[in-house]
Amino acid sequence: MTQRAALNSALPHLDCSGKVFEEALMQAPTNCSQCDLPEERCTCERYCTICKGQHNVRLCSDGLYYCPDCREACDVSLASSRGN
Ligand SMILES: [Zn+2]
Ligand SMILES: [Zn+2]
Repeated sequence: MTQRAALNSALPHLDCSGKVFEEALMQAPTNCSQCDLPEERCTCERYCTICKGQHNVRLCSDGLYYCPDCREACDVSLASSRGN
């Protein structure tokens, strides 16, 4: 009983401040550096800018495509962090 009361008072506070901050940072959409279109409309041939691999490449915040491995190695974030 006492545990549940503690959670209830802590969660809304964390959730609120974290979400507002994140959404402010995610405002600007990143477009493909080649065609200047967002990832879902880009029809360029997609391959990793580092290793030229084509497996699971995603548009990242610098407008280039990266595979998961190179993305992690270069420490770049996805253009849109929604939907994984
Ligand atoms: Zn493109
Ligand atoms: Zn790669």
